[in-house]
Amino acid sequence: MHHNPHPSALIDRFGRKVDYVRLSITDRCDFRCVYCMSEDVQFLPRDEVLTLEECSRIVKAFVSLGVKKVRITGGEPLVRKDALWLFNKISRLPGLNELVITTNGSQLEHQALVLKQAGVRRINISLDSLDAARFRKITRVGDLDKVLRGIAAAKQAGFEKIKLNTLLMHGINDDEALPLVAFAIEQGIDISFIEEMPLGSVHYHRNSSYVSNEDTLKLLRARYDLINSVESTGGPARYWRIPNTKTKIGFISPHSHNFCESCNRVRISSKGELFPCLGHENKVDLIPVLRDFPHNDRPLIEAIIEGIKIKPKGHDFDIKRAEPAVIRFMSYTGG
Ligand code: SAM
Ligand code: SF4
Repeated sequence: MHHNPHPSALIDRFGRKVDYVRLSITDRCDFRCVYCMSEDVQFLPRDEVLTLEECSRIVKAFVSLGVKKVRITGGEPLVRKDALWLFNKISRLPGLNELVITTNGSQLEHQALVLKQAGVRRINISLDSLDAARFRKITRVGDLDKVLRGIAAAKQAGFEKIKLNTLLMHGINDDEALPLVAFAIEQGIDISFIEEMPLGSVHYHRNSSYVSNEDTLKLLRARYDLINSVESTGGPARYWRIPNTKTKIGFISPHSHNFCESCNRVRISSKGELFPCLGHENKVDLIPVLRDFPHNDRPLIEAIIEGIKIKPKGHDFDIKRAEPAVIRFMSYTGG
């Protein structure tokens, strides 16, 4: 019989069990979304970024400690060369129930099927506009048609679930909540609305661009009979079903504190920093233990356990503050 060597190693000081890891495999991206990166963003030197071999060691260590779900993100994970190698390496680890990715969709047209074959179960695709010119404006360089073809390819490939992630900004795309939901219904996929977080000083209008999910929900309820879903992912999301459709609508509200007490996740940046909370500076650097001990995962496992011990009780965001409480970029921490 196999025993988990650390059955409750990933329980933090507040009794929360961590079984979900979000890993950023690159800080690079082919888009430059206005809320995420500055136009002239400087990417990290390659030797400061986790190698895919190191990513694989990290995932293995977490899974050996009881983690059941891994989300691969970035930056844009699918622009990382050989990302497929990593997916193939980790997707069938015993104990890992779900390997999922978050992508901007730019590479899906060609990669959706191989991703599915590599064992990726579910896919989140970011989509903020259905208008090509606007889409270009928000992403600065993105091609809407390519992303739409990517969504079609993902449907064709047969992922268990496809979900759109939408970030609404006042005066930019906040009139697209209804069209985007209609698109999701037509495609038979889910959609979640994400509130803008003050991560990194990107654009100066965050206070005025911020759209609250309360307002979006109100708008959608005027059009649809939304049914509250009890589903919980241990994260800051609430879900609603739309009767007679396959579509669920999620609202991810990081500004609410309500979810911190059930938080089940940690993040790893592309630099190998273990962040136990997106809204806190606390971290543990994994690169030293990975590179000092290339053939021994014991120090890595101890560093991970250390990271869980410093998981704070709650986060520290405040959109109204002049300076962001946390100045990391999402692309770097992993969204
Ligand atoms: N490049 C991939 C993508 O766009 O889906 C994965 C990484 S991206 C950082 C993950 C998610 O974070 C995207 O859905 C994006 O909209 C979201 N995001 C980026 N910056 C954000 C911010 N400041 N506040 C809230 N969400 C943000
Ligand atoms: Fe790239 Fe995703 Fe950030 Fe947009 S949100 S710049 S696609 S990492």
